[in-house]
Amino acid sequence: MTGELTALPDINPSRLEITRNPNPATPPPSSSLVFGHTFTDHMLTIPWDVLSGWGTPRIQPYGPLALEPSSTVLHYAQTLFEGMKAYRREDGKVTLFRPDMNMKRMNNSAQRIALPTFNGDALLELIKELVRIDKHWIPKEPGHSLYIRPTLIGTQKAIGVGPPNEALLFVICSPVGPYYPKGFQPVALFGTTEYIRAAPGGTGAFKLGVNYAPGVMPQKAAAARGYAQNLWLHGPEHYLTEVGTMNLFVVFRREDGAVELVTPPLDGMILPGVTRDSVLTLAKEHISGTKKLPGLPDNLIISERPVTMKEVKDASHSGRLVELFGAGTAAVISPVDRIGYLGEDVLIPTGPDGMGPVSRPIWTELVGRQTGTIPSDWSVVV
Ligand code: PMP
Repeated sequence: MTGELTALPDINPSRLEITRNPNPATPPPSSSLVFGHTFTDHMLTIPWDVLSGWGTPRIQPYGPLALEPSSTVLHYAQTLFEGMKAYRREDGKVTLFRPDMNMKRMNNSAQRIALPTFNGDALLELIKELVRIDKHWIPKEPGHSLYIRPTLIGTQKAIGVGPPNEALLFVICSPVGPYYPKGFQPVALFGTTEYIRAAPGGTGAFKLGVNYAPGVMPQKAAAARGYAQNLWLHGPEHYLTEVGTMNLFVVFRREDGAVELVTPPLDGMILPGVTRDSVLTLAKEHISGTKKLPGLPDNLIISERPVTMKEVKDASHSGRLVELFGAGTAAVISPVDRIGYLGEDVLIPTGPDGMGPVSRPIWTELVGRQTGTIPSDWSVVV
């Protein structure tokens, strides 16, 4: 029939074409792994164009992409990504952790910069196939995993800012070791009042390449002062937002004795982290009694609310600051022991193993659910 409007094809796993790598590499010893430096034998690519929609998904040997120098990604940062991990369980099965959340966030990111959206379940099917093909790359040692990096770029071959008429989705995988191989090491943060990561109405809530390059120079500046990461602050009140590339949690002991777990609200400047959501959900399950976490205080309160540096500093001075930590896929939980702020160091308590009384029980449950030692529907077999 002519003239009938038909939807353009979405990502279709049944069209997958697989070309095996003729020269598969030998995975290096896991002790030599540096985060994000080693890649597996295969990658997934799916082209898109405005006239024909999503094209043939291909799993093919890992290797260079061919891009014209005019490609819009190279000029206007039309790029977004995800970060997720595959874990090898003790029974040999390989699992992903809450991958549906990554698929949703990736589509939200795409929508924000006018790149094409797609069926997240279909992409997940293809990612599972890629992981199955390269699963021997997941190191067997505890704490190791396969870091999966889905990426979407605008590839229109023309200079000019606008929605691209061509795009490329690709997925690469990198075997990684534990973030803290020798146990938790609390980090020092620099509460920068000079640079910002995100602003109201901006793009901080999306996982876009454009959010990351501007953080590199301030990170170097913080490192030169002896701090591991920046603590990103907002506004004249110096609201805490995020830590480096992690979400942030603060724990206060309130005057009535209750222990308050605080994280900044999703106000458009905060990336909605999978780990952030998981920490909040576990704490809520503990409070509701759905699942009590051994060691977690019973008088716990959860607040998604703004928190200022003044509040953190006052609590540190009065002894009501319990702990402060970052949360993200790479490190899971990252304890903080001091914040350089306006010429002084705000000190934060840390436990004997680096963690605090709230983060430790939550970390134990979270890592158990991620690695499959604690059964949960968050863990999805590939
Ligand atoms: N904030 C930023 C800016 C990040 O880049 C990340 C890492 N994706 C996070 C928070 C944590 O998100 P997730 O728990 O999904 O890894």
